[in-house]
Amino acid sequence: MTLFEKITARQIPAKIVYETDDIIAFRDINPQAPTHVLVCPKLPLPKLSDAGAEHAEILGKCLLAVAEVARREGLVDYRVAINNGAGAGQSVFHLHLHLLGGRSLGWPPG
Ligand code: AMP
Repeated sequence: MTLFEKITARQIPAKIVYETDDIIAFRDINPQAPTHVLVCPKLPLPKLSDAGAEHAEILGKCLLAVAEVARREGLVDYRVAINNGAGAGQSVFHLHLHLLGGRSLGWPPG
């Protein structure tokens, strides 16, 4: 079971802010912005690069969930990030989208 499956199963505590049948979103334990929420499909796809055409619907739902969480958090400007692979900073191998907001976000990221 991945860490995020354990959060979904309530085996590990988390501050859950949004949940549907196939998506869960909770606050990052080590926030990098005043709002830092992780939006995950409950389906444990390890990385974005593992996704295929059969995942189009859940990937679309993830993006819409990010936008909904951002609305609920009162964010207008925000960043959505996916780290794909260890070399890109991925540490939990269960696909998740980072929603970051509430501070100025520079571009390009460091
Ligand atoms: P990534 O490095 O893109 O794989 O992102 C994984 C994120 O999960 C990091 O930002 C961590 O701070 C976060 N994280 C790790 N463990 C937990 C946890 N138990 N609850 C909430 N967020 C977590």
